[in-house]
Amino acid sequence: MVKNRWDENQSLVFQDVLSQRVYSSRLLGSDPSLVLHGGGNTSAKSTRINLHGNKEDILYIKGSGWDLSTIEAPGFAAVRLDPLKKARDLSTLSDPDMVNLLRTELTDFTMPTPSVEALLHAFIPEIFVDHTHADAVLTLTNQPNGEEIIKTLYETRIGIVPYVMPGFALAKLCAEIYDKSPGIEGLILLKHGVFSFGKTAKESYERMINLVNRAETFIDDVKTKTKSQAHRSKSKLGTSSSLSSIYAELSRRGFQSVLHLEDDDQTLEFVNRSDVSEISQRGPVTPDHVIRTKRIPLVLKTTQDSFDIEFSKKLDEYRDAYQVYFNAHSTQTDLPLTMLDPFPRLILIPGLGLVTVGKTKKEATIAADIYQRSMGVILNAEIIGKYDALPQQDIFDVEYWVLEQAKLNKAKSSTPFLGKTILVTGGSRGIGKAVCQSYAAHSTQVFNLDLQPPNQNNSQVHYIEADVSDEVSISNAFDEAVKRTGKIDIVIINAGIFPESQSIKDLSSELWQKSLNINLNGAFYTARAAAKWLSQNPRGGDIIFVASKNVPAPGKKAAAYSVMKAAQTQLARVLALESGSNKIRVNIVHPNMIFDTDIWSDEIIVERAKAYQMTPEAYKKNNCLNLPLSSQDVADVILALTSGAFSKSTGLQIPIDGGNERVI
Ligand SMILES: [Zn+2]
Repeated sequence: MVKNRWDENQSLVFQDVLSQRVYSSRLLGSDPSLVLHGGGNTSAKSTRINLHGNKEDILYIKGSGWDLSTIEAPGFAAVRLDPLKKARDLSTLSDPDMVNLLRTELTDFTMPTPSVEALLHAFIPEIFVDHTHADAVLTLTNQPNGEEIIKTLYETRIGIVPYVMPGFALAKLCAEIYDKSPGIEGLILLKHGVFSFGKTAKESYERMINLVNRAETFIDDVKTKTKSQAHRSKSKLGTSSSLSSIYAELSRRGFQSVLHLEDDDQTLEFVNRSDVSEISQRGPVTPDHVIRTKRIPLVLKTTQDSFDIEFSKKLDEYRDAYQVYFNAHSTQTDLPLTMLDPFPRLILIPGLGLVTVGKTKKEATIAADIYQRSMGVILNAEIIGKYDALPQQDIFDVEYWVLEQAKLNKAKSSTPFLGKTILVTGGSRGIGKAVCQSYAAHSTQVFNLDLQPPNQNNSQVHYIEADVSDEVSISNAFDEAVKRTGKIDIVIINAGIFPESQSIKDLSSELWQKSLNINLNGAFYTARAAAKWLSQNPRGGDIIFVASKNVPAPGKKAAAYSVMKAAQTQLARVLALESGSNKIRVNIVHPNMIFDTDIWSDEIIVERAKAYQMTPEAYKKNNCLNLPLSSQDVADVILALTSGAFSKSTGLQIPIDGGNERVI
């Protein structure tokens, strides 16, 4: 059942019409069984005094690009209501003309573009209007006899609207049905969603909850009478190897993606059904999902041995079917259309789960969230009767609707790191931390492999506990990253220690061994795992070793450190020789005097400065360029090295030291 989240005390904080609108919109947005990821929209009608001192009616309507769960007052566009209402007299209104009308009647040109369903809200003469794509209502309307079920269930409480694509025609139809049905609490749009309305935010919200719960109760009653046989077992398919194969095949076909896996009980119950190839192929539960999920998922029934061959075959079939779908439906529109990519966003694998595909992790996660709700709707719909979706043409019209495509284009950004998976060892502190944070700002998936978690949590960086000196630990950490994204693109071998200074004659075997384990064996285990996974990535990738100035210019009393870093450099050079044919670049940076790392405490800086008879300030800038260095400087070079600008360079050794006389 959907919970009524209205809190009288909390709602009192929100006094005026717009604040009340914000409050109840967030309540709707916080329930994923009602709306998901920017779905649904809400409005309220009010008045304002214009520049001439005259009162005019306005419509506050959700701006496109805002999410109901987090919406704030600026997320609502205030549009003059009268010109919108007048549009109802028109016999037709094209989409571009509709958007133009909505934008030109904004009371402030900086406001967001009103929702594509704004006219529908304007034509319904109620103060508050709420719209969701509630799962329970979709379960009932997506039935061959959906209209009949709705009629018996709600009687005269609601108006029933047959499916029409959102826009002017749907707005007019809803208004006509509203006019003919006095006293209704809402409208149910078959195979699309539900509208509720009321004099107050509370009335409209509670009507929405009650309407949805009527459907919930009906579904629950039928469900208690039927016992379903659920198969939730997992097969022997390897998760990281399966995801890696999917990513690699898509990449070879020119589609660069990030993957996401869901394998909870409900997902397994769905993908393991013997009729999954049938019930999953009927179409989305509400049409606007199509831009995130494509019309249908790809179903892959296979064993580990034939995984690659089967997936490739299924991708061919999917591509051919998409071409047929495009050819059949694109001719129905007057505008010349360009076919979108023919790759699935949802892959259902019995025994493994649901793998979703996106250009970024966010896209893949949105597709997963949407389909997880959809699986629930389809399963329930099959229990009630038969899951039935809209005809292909209706879905196609929404998929290729300019207004929907605009939503996606808005989200596009260009960065050379878009969607890349990056592993950094020792990312909790110092240079590693700066590297993690710098990559995280670029729509990437960054994994920090470290023994200790970072002091402050950065939600953009995923921490995996790992010990570089333990080969199993490193191998597991790589496996985990592949399970979460399908691939690895960039590895930064950074973890290391700076053992206490000792001349060789006094150097203990323990200290030597410790440095060997972490600084050299750790680099080897990481490099080996990186080479293994990057060679499975058809795009290849980058491996960066964070070595040290001590390699070209060793210092006294630092043998345990310098020797391991020199060996690490040699390891990198050999790896560069071996990996070029797999498009893997291996480059080395040699930082020096990076004072904001753990190695350099204030005391050590003072002590070292004294040894050179310098002030700490002068000591920090003791290089040719007279510039102090920081972890961020190293991160900037590493990002530049992996940005594509150095795509034809491998085996480089780049000092980051402000210019050191001994190195130059
Ligand atoms: Zn809708």
